[in-house]
Amino acid sequence: MTEMALDAVDLAAAAPHLRALATPGADAPFSELADHLPIGVFVVELGRGVVYLNRHLIDLTGLDLAADPTRPGHSAVHPDDRERVGSVARRVVARGQARMVDCRITVLDGAVRTVRCRLAPLPDEQGAIVGLVGTVADHTDVERQLEHRATHDELTELPNRALLAAHLDAALVRAAAESTSVAVLFVGLLRVPVVTHALGHAAGDRLVRQAARRLVASVGPDSLVSRFAEDRFVVVVEGIADDAAATALAERLVEAMEQPYVVGDDDAFIGAAVGIAVAAGAGSTVDQLVSDAGVAMARAVAAEAAVEVFDAGMRSEVEERRTLEISLRRGIERGEFGLAYQPIVELAEGRLLGFEALARWVDPPAPGMGPAQFIPVAEDAGLIGALGSELLGQACAQLAHWQRIRPEVFVSVNLSARQLAEPDLPERVARALADAGAHPAGLHLEITETVLLDDVDGAVESLQQLKSTGVRLCLDDFGTGYSSLTYLCRLPVDVVKIDRSFVAGLGVSDRDSSVVAAIIGMAGTLGHHLVAEGVETSDQAGRLRALGCDMAQGYLYSRPVPASDAEAMLGEPTATA
Ligand code: C2E
Ligand code: MG
Ligand code: MG
Repeated sequence: MTEMALDAVDLAAAAPHLRALATPGADAPFSELADHLPIGVFVVELGRGVVYLNRHLIDLTGLDLAADPTRPGHSAVHPDDRERVGSVARRVVARGQARMVDCRITVLDGAVRTVRCRLAPLPDEQGAIVGLVGTVADHTDVERQLEHRATHDELTELPNRALLAAHLDAALVRAAAESTSVAVLFVGLLRVPVVTHALGHAAGDRLVRQAARRLVASVGPDSLVSRFAEDRFVVVVEGIADDAAATALAERLVEAMEQPYVVGDDDAFIGAAVGIAVAAGAGSTVDQLVSDAGVAMARAVAAEAAVEVFDAGMRSEVEERRTLEISLRRGIERGEFGLAYQPIVELAEGRLLGFEALARWVDPPAPGMGPAQFIPVAEDAGLIGALGSELLGQACAQLAHWQRIRPEVFVSVNLSARQLAEPDLPERVARALADAGAHPAGLHLEITETVLLDDVDGAVESLQQLKSTGVRLCLDDFGTGYSSLTYLCRLPVDVVKIDRSFVAGLGVSDRDSSVVAAIIGMAGTLGHHLVAEGVETSDQAGRLRALGCDMAQGYLYSRPVPASDAEAMLGEPTATA
């Protein structure tokens, strides 16, 4: 409840009229008006107490001066608030300044309501303050609305984080007292941004609202479903038997989330993953449980699983990742990253054609810390833009230098999904090339096919813009995603790189051999060049050659090496094969 200074010009200006109200018949039109106001009006005179109450206030409080002149005017004010209201009133009179005060009053039926009172000094004809006038407005509904707003999410009307915390806290206390358990289910909707991107924000909102309703319907009346963030919900289930019961519920939730959504002319589909954390006896805190469940949800997403139950190992993984993120950020600032170069050769004669540039944490060297470890962390932490630009700059400088030694040489640089999604990537590539003075045709950009799948039309457009800078495009790790012929046809790529897992199976697994043969046939038909990755034996090289593959890369020719060693190879006309 609050007490505020009030700019009650109107009330203060009306005070003389209000005073007249106390004299029956003195200001009849005004009295008539005051009686019909939907708020309470009263007048207090020093030494006389309450001298006027309008009809609204009489009906509200049952105070009637005519019927019961002995009942003090302030008796309607809640006993706990009387002192405070009295002191505000005294100040209004003493300072001659209007003020506002919220308090509780007991109304006719005994209920307690919250009211907002505006109090203004009451002057006599000479201007001396002889009392005060006040208005009383019922604030209970406003307060309820404010409270609802403070504790509920606007879009879904579900409890928000604040209410979740209060509810879960109470549930933990109950669980400790009754030796039962509380499960927290962290529900992450997947691919909502794809729907929003394709169908607009209103469609995204409709989808989230439908998902919220389904969650509520799926968990039953005794559980709390709250909206935690955009497309994240947290469900609190009390008295759940064990992990298996929580998992069964979580699986039902995922199933419910995966049903089609009606958001426009077409149905939309999304996925969901659920992380579970169960309060283990006393000592579990709200923050810890929600965070554990969130970690388990992230793990489920990473593992492409529907449901994961939190275990302590996940927490240390999270901590390690956070540490790595911090050193990555610092490493990028300090220029600790560089590139190793791995030759790509012509299969027929082993002639060096170019290099793939591979990110390395070189200065100081970080043993066991390859790009497969740090690139995904850089992506998640939003650092890939900075790291990617730095490496692209280095690769372009190297390319420019090597183009002066051998003009047709190329350097192939890996791009991550996040980089491809940046609208200014083509400009950045063009600028990096221009700054280095490198010829665009010597720059190859590698993109993995899984990156492109989510939004093929968008991908085709981004790739075309990239190509307009004059660079060549490579589809990396081909065969590991959902390689489909139609898909390959549509992408404006120049080179397809066959993933090394298939190359490893050449001559070992019939299936892998036939997949490689099919990819080579397919790419050949479409006019794409081919690079076989991870060629380690001359047997593999021989088979690839026989199948018509034109280029290869792998330990058989060379491991990734520092730029100086790579440069030495430029002078050699033929690598070992
Ligand atoms: P990738 O683009 O498919 O790169 C080929 C990976 O295979 C490299 O691992 C390379 O060292 C390894 N490799 C090459 N030949 C052989 C072989 O004969 N046998 C075996 N077993 N492995 C071979 P690396 O350098 O650890 O890179 C791993 C992945 O990290 C890359 O896969 C690429 O996806 C990513 N990456 C590397 N550098 C960058 C970068 O600058 N930016 C981005 N976004 N991703 C990068
Ligand atoms: Mg690559
Ligand atoms: Mg690859």
